[in-house]
Amino acid sequence: MIVGILGGGQLARMLALAGHPLGLHFRFLDPSPTACSRGVAQQIQGPFDDEAKLLALAEGSDVVTYEFENVPARCVAYLAEHANIYPAPRALEAGQDRLFEKRLFRELGIDTAEFLPVSTPQALALAVKQLGRPALLKTRTQGYDGKGQVMLREGQDLAEAWAAIGGVPAIVEALVPFERELSVIAVRARDGEVRCYPLSENTHRDGILRLAVSRPDEPLQGLARGYATRLLGHLDYVGVLALELFQQGERLLANEFAPRVHNSGHWTIEGAETSQFENHLRAILGLPLGRTEAVEHAAMVNFIGALPPAAEVLKLPQAHLHAYDKAPRPGRKVGHATVRTPDRAVFEQHVEALQRLAAGAATDKNH
Ligand code: AMP
Repeated sequence: MIVGILGGGQLARMLALAGHPLGLHFRFLDPSPTACSRGVAQQIQGPFDDEAKLLALAEGSDVVTYEFENVPARCVAYLAEHANIYPAPRALEAGQDRLFEKRLFRELGIDTAEFLPVSTPQALALAVKQLGRPALLKTRTQGYDGKGQVMLREGQDLAEAWAAIGGVPAIVEALVPFERELSVIAVRARDGEVRCYPLSENTHRDGILRLAVSRPDEPLQGLARGYATRLLGHLDYVGVLALELFQQGERLLANEFAPRVHNSGHWTIEGAETSQFENHLRAILGLPLGRTEAVEHAAMVNFIGALPPAAEVLKLPQAHLHAYDKAPRPGRKVGHATVRTPDRAVFEQHVEALQRLAAGAATDKNH
């Protein structure tokens, strides 16, 4: 069986690595000659909106999927005419516009921060008056990892904020004084069965995920599962989806969803019975889903900008290194390490050690 993937970054790479033991073959479309999946899958090099290249990806692939969500809708629609594509284009579109996404959450009874749409400087002023400050101005489309966002604190000039996002349609969102950021990774099979991984507790810095810790005994798991199940069912979704959440007391507020495998679920490679990557493949190929329970304490530390020396990571006996075969560059995700151990004290020590190594590697590279 051949799986086609739109995009050839680390998510495509990890999908291919998870699929090889199942006897699957992979090909991917990516414009970059240095796409990091090139070592593990066959590349079709070209832009995402080139119909001939999209056709080459579709033809002969048993199923096509994607590793990022900002794919132009018309490219996905074209692909859907020529291939079995999962998740369906509808799910992708639902998440591409923050306004529609937030309205969908509300329709499904999923809590969110208060928000208002704005498409003019006048509407922005009114929205800020209504929601108060601090608030966030976010572009409706093309924003990710904190890009396309301006914080509206007391004193922030609204005309400047409007100019900073390029005067495009946006939403204003009340700032949530959250206690934790969490995500639930869920998978839905073609027959409608849904399975959820234990919640991940996520730490970001500069808008980029740094640490994800699995929380198997989380009291809010049931609430998160309910949200994910409703969302996946509504979208008639097939594959893995990540729902990002803010925790405030007993409440969970949905921020956004990603219709794909997700960075906060990388710990599942060693830390769960079946990884998010394998379960995505099982779902889109119509195979039975694997178990999603965490096997022990598990966490993931991202390496941003540069990798630490492999020997330094691997001398931690319960750590596993994943290098993405990408050139170092500030702000770029170049790898991660997972810790998995039954021993809570070892777990804490390893996570701290890995965070130190991650910080050291990033600093060394910037000097
Ligand atoms: P986003 O681009 O929506 O994923 O936001 C990136 C990050 O900004 C999130 O992971 C949060 O840390 C923060 N953030 C976004 N929206 C809010 C909000 N309404 N309240 C507080 N923090 C937020």
